[in-house]
Amino acid sequence: MQASIPERATEAAKSHAYGCPLCNCGADSEDDIYCHLLVSHRKSAVVGALLERVGNE
Ligand SMILES: [Zn+2]
Repeated sequence: MQASIPERATEAAKSHAYGCPLCNCGADSEDDIYCHLLVSHRKSAVVGALLERVGNE
């Protein structure tokens, strides 16, 4: 199953008010980043980054 990647959250976004914590992508709204994380990153990568971040703080 191929999920479509929202064009809104890309490195070419007009505004990087909200940045993806896992890559250099940015978007204009938190919802766009939310969708980007769901579609563009594996769940394991998101969880791994989350645990690593918690461990560092
Ligand atoms: Zn990303």
